[in-house]
This record gives sequence, structure tokens and C-alpha cells, in this order.
Amino acid sequence: MFRINDNFTKLPASYLFSEVARRVNAYAESHPGADIIRMGIGDVTRPLCQAAVDALHKAVDDEASGETFHGYGPEQGYSFLAEKIARYDYRKRGIEIDIDEIFVGDGAKSDTGNIGDILSTANRVAVTDPVYPVYVDTNVMGGRAGDLGADGRWSEIEYLPCTAENGFVPALPVNNPDVIYLCYPNNPTGTTLTRSQLKVWVDYCREHGALLLFDAAYEAFIREEDVPHSIYEIEGAREVAIEFRSFSKTAGFTGIRLGYTVVPKELKGLDDKGNKVALNGLWRRRQTTKFNGASYLTQRAAEALYTEEGQRQVKETIDYYLENARILREGLAEAGYETVGGINSPYIWLKTPGTMTSWEFFDYLLDRYHIVGTPGSGFGPSGEGYFRLTAFNTHENTRRCIERLGATDRK
Ligand SMILES: *Cc1c(COP(=O)(O)O)cnc(C)c1O
Repeated sequence: MFRINDNFTKLPASYLFSEVARRVNAYAESHPGADIIRMGIGDVTRPLCQAAVDALHKAVDDEASGETFHGYGPEQGYSFLAEKIARYDYRKRGIEIDIDEIFVGDGAKSDTGNIGDILSTANRVAVTDPVYPVYVDTNVMGGRAGDLGADGRWSEIEYLPCTAENGFVPALPVNNPDVIYLCYPNNPTGTTLTRSQLKVWVDYCREHGALLLFDAAYEAFIREEDVPHSIYEIEGAREVAIEFRSFSKTAGFTGIRLGYTVVPKELKGLDDKGNKVALNGLWRRRQTTKFNGASYLTQRAAEALYTEEGQRQVKETIDYYLENARILREGLAEAGYETVGGINSPYIWLKTPGTMTSWEFFDYLLDRYHIVGTPGSGFGPSGEGYFRLTAFNTHENTRRCIERLGATDRK
């Protein structure tokens, strides 16, 4: 009989969000009047901006007429969009990216997950801990993770702890990994790395021949000067880094789906004969074979984000979330919590009080204040003792949340 990919059976059932839902539902059932505020939302909540909506309507009309109909598009994305990306996301920041280094896809989750297709299964992988689970789980599927230990760590993955002890700045790896995932601004901690802190990683990868997979899904939330928007702001990154971007958190595209991946032409890896091979061509081959292009409609919607009013509307929505992040950050501090994040990010990462575990704090917050968040331990062993709150609720609910914790919004 045929065999399955055994790597899939190594993966434990994804437990975090289903367990959160289970506990919230059980609580709501036994406490019928409880007015529960959900501060664990991991999805945007504000609607698409008007510029994107207008472009979508127009694109639908294009598809309705024989003269303007678009069928299959280029697998790597339409040049009308890639040109805008190159110009506004990169050239405006002094970075030269060719349009054939840009691969438009249906989102950063797929691309960060699929990139392993063009990398040897023999590569050793390093991730920050806590971490966006997609990086780990897709390497389990790809056979690079080894076995899951009782401590929640995969035997072949190097974990780079990010905790209060190191100021949430990961130390360089010690086991000489071939592939390193970094996500900044970070999900789940909401922290960032400065230019000089990121340069350490680019330099390390250049020196050790490692590949840097840089997830910049939260780039649009950056408000501080010294936080790079792109890994290519760092000198030498073109030879070592792939960058993943997404319109999901930037512009509320979580439902309509769009992202892109940048693979610079200088970026090369070794084949089994020791020859250097450009990843740009490999990823192009992968995408043109396994992916048939993102929708024309969504790409037109994304194009409209780069107009003046599109840019203004995007910023307005992100400012709305960042105002929630400020309310949370200041309110939690007033209520006596230690937090990071929430400045260039929609996520606030807090230390649970005393010796409470992440799940104990979850139950405490739900029972005492009727507030729901996400236990940090769900993002990796070093997330234990931490908790994530998000800025994806309304101003009103965010204020009610901190008031329940005994704080007031003083602004
Ligand atoms: C939300 C998110 C993404 C974006 O995923 P899409 O597939 O583009 O919606 C990527 N990386 C991280 C860390 C995220 O939190």
C-alpha cells in the first residue's frame, strides 16, 4: 500500500487557538451574563480602505467585459503591481529591487511555508523562541526538525530564546545553522530590532554562509526611525536574505489574500556538487510550476494602496490599531504589568505576575476580568510565563479592557 509523508504524523495537533476557544466557550456557558472582551484577536478587524474597495469594483467590471477580461496572469504577479512595490516599498527608502526579484503571491504564510521547497532537507534551521508557528511546523513537514522532545523543542531545530533576560534580542546561534528565520516587528512579542542589531544578523549570515528568511509582515506598523522597514536597508543583505511581505496586516487583506516575496539575484546557495546556484531562478521555477498567480482583482486592489489616498487610508487604519496598542501599553503599565511591544506593532507581550504560567494567567484574566488573550507558551517554550494581547479590537473595548484591570486612559 502507498505510504504517507511520516513527517506529518510527527506534528502534534495544533492546540493553542482551539484550547483558547474551548476554555472561553466553557466559561461563557457556565457564566451566562459575562461580558467577555476578546483581546486575543489575531486578525485585523477594520474594513478594506476605500481606495482598495474602488479598485476591486473596477477590476470586477474589467472581468465582466471581453475587452478588459484577464484570465491567467503571470505566476509571479502583474508588472503593474511589482513596479509599484519596487518604487514605493523599496526605492523610496533608497533600496533598488528589480521587478523580477519580486514574486507576488497569495500571502506570507504560504511563501514562508513553501520556501523550504527550494532548500535541501539537510539544512539545519534556527528560529527565535517564541515564534510564529508556521516556520517550525513547515520544517517538521519538510523533515528538517528531528523529533519533538518532552521540553517542547524539536531535536534538530536551534531555538534562540527571546525573553526579558536578554531584552527580547536573540543571541547569535551557536550550532552553525544554515537557515535562520527572523520576524521583525515580531509576532508574538511585538518587539523590533534596530538597524545595528539587524546588521549583526546579516554579518553573521555572510560570514557563515547562512540564509536569512526575513518576515516583514508587520512593516507597516513601524513608527520609530531606527527600525528598518526592510532587511535590504542593511548593507550586504542582498547576498543572504529573502524578504516576505504581506498586505494582510498592512491593508486588511487577510480575507482577500496577497503578499510578496523578494529574492535578490545575488543570493546563491550550494548544490550537491558544490556549485553556487541562484535562488531567484529556483523560486521562479517553483512558483511557475506550483502556483498559478494571485487573483487579478486582489492585485488591482493592492495597486490602489500605493496611490496617495491609498497610502493615507492605510496609515489611518494602522494608526487606529496603534492607538489601541498605546492604550493597552500605558494601561497595563499603570496596572503594574511589565510589557514590551505595542510601539511598532499591534502586539503587546506581557510578563505574567509572580510565578503564574501562561495558562494560569489566561484562566485568571478570563475568570476575574472577563478578558481573553493568548498564552505565550503556545508560541514556544520560551513564551512560558508570558501572554499576548492584541490591538485588533475597537478603541472602546480596548479602554474597557484596561479599566477592568484598574487603569484609565489618560489621553
Ligand atoms: C499574519 C502573519 C503573516 C501574514 O500571513 P498572510 O498569509 O500574508 O496573511 C506572516 N507572518 C506573520 C508572522 C504573521 O503574523
